[in-house]
Amino acid sequence: MTDTTQAVGVDFHCHLDLYPDFEAAIAKAEAARIYTLTVTTTPKAWPRNHELTRQTRFVRAALGLHPQLIAERAGELPLWERHLSETRYVGEVGLDAGPRFYKSLDTQKQVFRRVLQCCADAGGKILTVHSVRSAAQVLDMIEEHLPRDRGTAILHWFTGSRSEAKRAVALGCYFSVNAEMVRTDRGRALVAELPTDRILTETDGPFTQVHGRPSEPSDVEATATSLARVLGLSPEAVGKKVQSNLRTLLD
Ligand code: MN
Repeated sequence: MTDTTQAVGVDFHCHLDLYPDFEAAIAKAEAARIYTLTVTTTPKAWPRNHELTRQTRFVRAALGLHPQLIAERAGELPLWERHLSETRYVGEVGLDAGPRFYKSLDTQKQVFRRVLQCCADAGGKILTVHSVRSAAQVLDMIEEHLPRDRGTAILHWFTGSRSEAKRAVALGCYFSVNAEMVRTDRGRALVAELPTDRILTETDGPFTQVHGRPSEPSDVEATATSLARVLGLSPEAVGKKVQSNLRTLLD
């Protein structure tokens, strides 16, 4: 059962299966009542993620094939396709044109195109999308392959330009904002211009840290507080806004 009304916060992109104790990480998110989308990086991880989130109230799992793994794992695309009907949530998917992954960019695009096409065919999917150094290309592909009435993309940890953000808004995308994004002037300037009805929060744990330890879903409360300062709203107002955005997204 989807239980957004009882949640006290939203972590719409984290990797609970990369914590030392996956089951404990799920239990902790449940106890904290954080609506958590736990993403996967390979479809091989899907069955266990699916199994462990069948009965949870607040934690949902997403079926992914991470762009940074495409060089080695592009061959897992058929497996990803086989599992797609088992979930509404897709991620982590997208493109990474950073120096370490640039070599596989053409293959990444083939895979991401297929992912978008499959999602558009299925309808109603919610995707959490990586777009490092590739915002324009990611948006081109969403525009071409995922019509707005066939699915919704959430741009996770978006680092594109302000004009790219505007374009993403026009395409119907949401943004999941993490603590790192509001730590820099550039990030704050970008976030301040996002329409508040397209904002969600995330941790991207364990890839971000707080107080020298990996972030966990309950750390989104601090993110909501930082976000409130950037948006000129109260933390309570931001919390409510994010929850109502989540309900709109899931309805
Ligand atoms: Mn991630």
